[in-house]
Amino acid sequence: MEQRDVIILGSGPAGLTAAIYAARAGLKPLVFEGVRAGGQLMITTEVENFPGFSEGINGPELMQEMRAQAERVGADLESEEVTKVELAPEKKIVWVEDEAYEAKTVIIATGATANLLGLASEARLMGRGVSACATCDGFFFKDKIICVVGGGDSTMEEATFLTRFASKVYIIHRRDQFRASKIMVQKAKDNPKIQFIMNSVVIDILGDEKVTGVKLENTVSHEISQLEVSGVFVAIGHTPNTQLFKGQLRLDEKGYILTSENKNQLTATSIPGVFACGDVQDSRYRQAVSAAGSGCMAALDVEKYLEEPKHLYVIR
Ligand code: NAP
Repeated sequence: MEQRDVIILGSGPAGLTAAIYAARAGLKPLVFEGVRAGGQLMITTEVENFPGFSEGINGPELMQEMRAQAERVGADLESEEVTKVELAPEKKIVWVEDEAYEAKTVIIATGATANLLGLASEARLMGRGVSACATCDGFFFKDKIICVVGGGDSTMEEATFLTRFASKVYIIHRRDQFRASKIMVQKAKDNPKIQFIMNSVVIDILGDEKVTGVKLENTVSHEISQLEVSGVFVAIGHTPNTQLFKGQLRLDEKGYILTSENKNQLTATSIPGVFACGDVQDSRYRQAVSAAGSGCMAALDVEKYLEEPKHLYVIR
């Protein structure tokens, strides 16, 4: 079986930054990019807050650059999806179907995936007016009336972005307070194309072949109403991609990987030699630049782990 110093799972900003640092440290990292190579920035248009790009940069372009950089410095990138892991203090095996790879250390950077409402009509009309990615699908709603569900920063960002195409964007939120930051809410409020519908939940998405509207329930009065829209964008948070690690690594109550609070090993998990970085262990900051920063930290922790007594690198 092929043995590596480090195998990296995931190829968003965290995984690729870890790959760049590990490769430059001479560790010849093997990166399994997964089916959603590049992570969430692949479904983003303009990124204005990644330092170093004064004019902004498109998400996919930024990821292409990171990927090229990782390859140039010596990382091996494989497009496969890891199907199973066996993570033990003394031995780590990563499986891609029936092919096994052994590693002295593993860096997990598998990110997070968008949540959905869970309605049958949402599943039926997905791609026919329902979307969880404004930047992927916004273009199809030119001069249309649409809605965005949620009250977080993603909701505000997506609604604002969608006004580039749509004639009107409703933000439907289940409470009367926003989770989103004040500045993002203000930006949405200042946009004449955006209208807020508060204290309301979507209980059904209407339409046979394509979306024609939504059925709403007021959470205070329980009044039912209908709203005519031709697009429904769901922006209600994310779930960490940690299914592979359940029962092996310690996770928090939302399923995010728990990492150490010891400032000398911030990316260490509950298994020595297994490190985590990016959105899979961060439900708070979730920024490309913070993910990249934690990827760097994971690679540095791996380097130290390979040099130093291994028991140091684990959550207590
Ligand atoms: P979030 O902060 O968890 O917000 C999710 C929103 O969806 C909440 O308003 C929540 O309502 C609502 N929601 C959840 N489940 C729902 C359901 N089943 N039905 C209806 N509504 C539901 O998620 P996020 O907006 O994706 O942001 C996550 C993190 O990324 C945050 O830390 C955020 O600051 C960051 N972020 C930053 C930027 C930026 O700075 N440019 C952009 C995007 C995201 P309740 O409020 O009632 O719980």
